[in-house]
Amino acid sequence: MEPAMQSLSPAQILALWERGRAQHALDRALTILAVATPGASRAALADLPIGERDARLLKLRALVFGPRAEGFAECPHCGERIEFPFESTVLEGHAPSRSPSAPAHHETQTNGTTISFRLPTSRDLAEIVAAPDSSQALRRLVHRCVSSPNDDELPDETIEAVSRAMLVVDPQAEITLRLSCPACGRNWDLLFDIVEFFWNEISAHAQRLLREIDTLARAYGWSEREILSLPAQRRQTYLEMLAA
Ligand SMILES: [Zn+2]
Repeated sequence: MEPAMQSLSPAQILALWERGRAQHALDRALTILAVATPGASRAALADLPIGERDARLLKLRALVFGPRAEGFAECPHCGERIEFPFESTVLEGHAPSRSPSAPAHHETQTNGTTISFRLPTSRDLAEIVAAPDSSQALRRLVHRCVSSPNDDELPDETIEAVSRAMLVVDPQAEITLRLSCPACGRNWDLLFDIVEFFWNEISAHAQRLLREIDTLARAYGWSEREILSLPAQRRQTYLEMLAA
């Protein structure tokens, strides 16, 4: 049985923010999922294919902040800063239906050779962080994930073929959003990074919670624990009364 994910309480969001601040994005993603999935080990989460990790983060994001999301981007053509509201649940639709019996190994053909590979996980991405450039990083990643042929140096065509095949098997691992600029009218594709996006939301929410705790503690003398245990709506009502 897959351990079920739970939404995050205000106290968990604060603890998560403090723990994740000093972490690399790869570790942050696992820290978030570990807090939301009490029955899952961090090691098991690190072994999830990236598309599955991201599908879980999208699902959790909707549980915590609701299905609607507000993105910001800068137009690469004219520099205009645009807002783009979107339904994060729509992005979950990219994920193929997954069953526990889904094969861990996949195959692709290049130049008459059959290549066996598995999908990259957080562990694999962590191992290539130190690569000097993106082409070396891709090369190392593919080498880690290819089980056959067991060559020391795979040719460039194989590296390319495997990286393409990985995306076909796991399209959720790379989500792009088509955006258009209201100022210059041009379109572009934005690579959507759910880890960065969700983390920015968690960070903004945690800082707002701290400001609210500060305001309520000064006004009423309640402890942090007491304030965090208030239902969100009642906390808002007290804050509105103070601001009136
Ligand atoms: Zn523009």
